Amino acid sequence: MTELLFRDDAYLRSCAARVTGVDERGIRLDRTVFYATGGGQPGDVGTLRLADGTTIAIVDTVKGDGDEVIHVPAPDAALPQPGTEVTAEIDWERRHRLMRMHTCLHLLCAVVPGAVTGGAVGDGRGRLDFDVPGASLDKEAIAAALNRLIAEGHTVAPRWIDDAELAARPELVRTMSVKPPSGAGRVRLLEIDGVDLQPCGGTHVKDTAEIGPVEITKIENKGRQNRRINLAFAG
Ligand SMILES: [Zn+2]
Repeated sequence: MTELLFRDDAYLRSCAARVTGVDERGIRLDRTVFYATGGGQPGDVGTLRLADGTTIAIVDTVKGDGDEVIHVPAPDAALPQPGTEVTAEIDWERRHRLMRMHTCLHLLCAVVPGAVTGGAVGDGRGRLDFDVPGASLDKEAIAAALNRLIAEGHTVAPRWIDDAELAARPELVRTMSVKPPSGAGRVRLLEIDGVDLQPCGGTHVKDTAEIGPVEITKIENKGRQNRRINLAFAG
């Protein structure tokens, strides 16, 4: 298992780690700051730096078994031996944009009523699909409500509850397409103070003001009861 340092501190840009395994899928470390693709959020890119200064470019991060994280090296990279000490460093600028957009999608969830049927966090843009039967969604009204919540500067923080408490509060699970991260009898929730509370294993900014202004770029019909709301950072 990989120790997932980003779960407790999404702002960690690098960490010291030891290579625990290397195979055709990629490189495993004992601990990491790299987020693996999941929950609609893309995996991190970055580098592993060896003691002699050489670097291995990491072009993607994916999940292995359980909490295992697989760092996918560039195709031409020289691979390290198991036991090698490395410094794992993510592309922070990209990750921070993903964190801002991911947090923004939580706000969108709070602004638009209806079950979420899908979604994706992109670099600079994002989208959520809502099961909204026949309703016409007002692009400008949604953008205004979102930007107000962003500007209000709500505190964002993870917290854990046990499986029994989540089972007793099914209304917490808005996103049916994403299985909440659980294990060892507890589930990770993401709380935006006064706005939203739901299971999530992704990375988020600590204050909604950090998201910055956003715009709704397009609302699409994706089937009879499915509306796709696309948004992007403004300017
Ligand atoms: Zn989240």
